[in-house]
Amino acid sequence: MAKIQMKTPLVEMDGDEMTRVIWQMIKDELICPFVDLKTEYYDLGLKHRNDTNDQVTIDSAEATKKYGVAVKCATITPNAARMDEYDLKEMWKSPNGTIRAILDGTVFRAPILVKGVEPYVKNWVKPITIARHAYGDVYKGSEMKIPGPGKVELVYTAEDGTETRELVHNFKGSGIVQGMHNLTESIESFARSCFNFAVDTKQDLWFATKDTISKKYDHTFKDIFQEIYDNEYKETFEKLGLEYFYTLIDDAVARVIRSNGGYIWACKNYDGDVMSDMLATAYGSLSMMTSVLVSPKGVYEYEAAHGTVQRHYYKHLKGEETSTNSIATIFAWTGALRKRGEMDNLPELMEFADKLEKACISTVESGKMTKDLALIVKSDSVQALNTQEFIGAVRETLEASL
Ligand code: NAP
Ligand code: MG
Repeated sequence: MAKIQMKTPLVEMDGDEMTRVIWQMIKDELICPFVDLKTEYYDLGLKHRNDTNDQVTIDSAEATKKYGVAVKCATITPNAARMDEYDLKEMWKSPNGTIRAILDGTVFRAPILVKGVEPYVKNWVKPITIARHAYGDVYKGSEMKIPGPGKVELVYTAEDGTETRELVHNFKGSGIVQGMHNLTESIESFARSCFNFAVDTKQDLWFATKDTISKKYDHTFKDIFQEIYDNEYKETFEKLGLEYFYTLIDDAVARVIRSNGGYIWACKNYDGDVMSDMLATAYGSLSMMTSVLVSPKGVYEYEAAHGTVQRHYYKHLKGEETSTNSIATIFAWTGALRKRGEMDNLPELMEFADKLEKACISTVESGKMTKDLALIVKSDSVQALNTQEFIGAVRETLEASL
């Protein structure tokens, strides 16, 4: 069988530890035998980030801007322990943070559903995708402890020196205070990324804040979304039969629980932080979450939501058997290949991505899976495979479908 040809390279961002090991296996076993894979390779493994003073991360993000689609392996975000382990020159920043800042993107997370791994909420038959705004609010807040009586005010000093004041509170005793901000530009980017992704994946978009209580702060989020929707996306949404709706966060939570899934839920920074953990747990497994960074200009970076699976890597180094689930990393590849196929008008490549995803799902549904899933699947015919065996089983299923 002739290999599927590509036109434009994918930006390939290699990573660390166990996910770096499965990265190579996925390429060798599941992609390269079938696709004449074209990539521009960037090694984001911690050693090479350190060798290049993290320039490689910046270069990979710039390349993503140029080509439009990247696929990223999980990477170590250094902490004190990693400084020693890798003899680092500096505690380099999280690559995801660096890439996100350059692409100005929003991260969309969605679970991969398979029969047998049942969500705790029985009516969630389709995935719910969470979009979390990744700038500002309490994450860039400044705080003070107020020791005793006194007045706290917000003061805005314009460039010409004029001051605007707003009383926060007249303290009679001790207390606490917090100031936070966001930027019109950042909220606009967030909104556009969400609307683009909704159009792209043909899903409805929900957005919710607490605008009844926060009449200026949250209300501005609501207004910006509405204005961008009306002026830039309404027509496309209507043509595609999609819906954008805004509701209060309390109402959204109630509706989400009652829903069947199949939409995107856009959240402010804190709401997204909390709700994405809630959803990931409720859908059953961290190893089955995909993640894609979408820029407001329509640039895409696909990855798995989990980390480098450090504990498994140390076992692997000792020559012990591991059972690491490669599905989310495989879906990062298929997401990127499908998007590349769509942009370059290569239907065969898109079809291959669909078939590889189906092969993962039917392999699990046939009872063959890694340990993390074997522990939670309710079925009599579960066969727990090791890392390599699982990828081999997916290859067999895939070959049968080609
Ligand atoms: P992790 O790699 O996500 O793993 C946490 C635990 O979840 C694992 O020990 C494993 O449980 C289970 N798990 C996660 N993915 C799995 C998979 N594919 N198959 C089977 N089990 C899986 O998180 P971490 O251990 O907290 O972080 C390790 C490193 O990853 C850190 O250096 C962190 O900086 C980095 N990280 C990177 C990203 C990213 O690049 N996007 C995201 C998060 C963390 P058991 O050990 O019980 O089997
Ligand atoms: Mg969190």
